[in-house]
Amino acid sequence: MKTVFVVGAGPAGLFAAQKIAQAGHQTIIFNRDIKPGGLAEYGIYPTKDKMKFGLRKQFAKVLSLPNVHYFGNAPVSRQSAITVDDLRRWRPSAIVFSVGAQGTKKLGLPGEMAKGVYPAKDFVYNYNLLPIYTSQDFSVGKRVAVIGMGNVMVDIVHWLLVDDPKKTTEEVIVVARRGPFEAKFDAKEFNYVENHFDRKAFEKELERIQPQLSAVGQDTSKLAEETFPVLKKPAAEGEIQGGRFSFRFLCQPKEIHADANGRINRLTVTENVLAERDGSIACKATEKTAEIEVTP
Ligand SMILES: Cc1cc2nc3c(=O)[nH]c(=O)nc-3n(C[C@H](O)[C@H](O)[C@H](O)COP(=O)(O)OP(=O)(O)OC[C@H]3O[C@@H](n4cnc5c(N)ncnc54)[C@H](O)[C@@H]3O)c2cc1C
Repeated sequence: MKTVFVVGAGPAGLFAAQKIAQAGHQTIIFNRDIKPGGLAEYGIYPTKDKMKFGLRKQFAKVLSLPNVHYFGNAPVSRQSAITVDDLRRWRPSAIVFSVGAQGTKKLGLPGEMAKGVYPAKDFVYNYNLLPIYTSQDFSVGKRVAVIGMGNVMVDIVHWLLVDDPKKTTEEVIVVARRGPFEAKFDAKEFNYVENHFDRKAFEKELERIQPQLSAVGQDTSKLAEETFPVLKKPAAEGEIQGGRFSFRFLCQPKEIHADANGRINRLTVTENVLAERDGSIACKATEKTAEIEVTP
């Protein structure tokens, strides 16, 4: 029987531990967070209980194996009580590093360090109550820009407009490099926020970018079949209740501007055009820029 260390108890570390333990080895897990699960615990949207409970059950099964030993709140790093050299000194047969993608991607933009600018992962960790992130400032204003249009964007819109107990945000602008046909969220996820989708603003935005879409042969009448199935449903009558969100397509952040308190209040974006590349639609930056106001 051998002893194997596993560093990190997200889905990757836990399922690796399961295989190693099932092969008959002693498996010792060191995890930075108290709770196991990694992003399956701290990334999945707080109200998606069914998914979280299902995963927790699977993780509990792994941790209940008699030869799996779990240490939470046990980060391994140069700055921690346990270092990689310590692990080596304890002479395991192998060490598995399954620490996930912990870094945050910087956009490399002027003004990126302004207050009120957050990496999505950290923002998500905060509303999912991962300990050190709960004591940091993730405050938002009335008008918020979210960069990107995948499922994490939908989660953040969901939080800002539906579940944030502070209810500070009244409007979200989703800033997307490409067009509506390149949206990456799942229709099922979009259902959570569809009551806040500003369809009038969306139609106006489609009109604005129509020439760009036509240039690459995209037909907006097909959007309902492809990336925006919400358009198959009749538009709700009257005003949107609560906050609303809209899309600003074909642009990417170029510079972040801050007010006198150092807090973001405007975003300069570069306008993009669409271009077909190797059978898929890519975007190309132009010389043109535009301004998007946000509220500090
Ligand atoms: C915001 C967000 C939402 C997501 N939502 C979904 C979803 O709804 N459905 C879905 O299928 N996927 C979702 N994903 C993707 C999914 O969460 C990841 O693909 C998956 O969690 C990756 O697993 P992992 O084990 O590699 O890393 P992680 O889940 O990141 O786990 C890493 C683990 O390593 C630990 N660790 C880190 N550093 C150290 C250290 N130095 N020492 C010890 N331990 C350390 C951490 O505490 C953590 O427990 C989401 C991702 C994000 C970012």
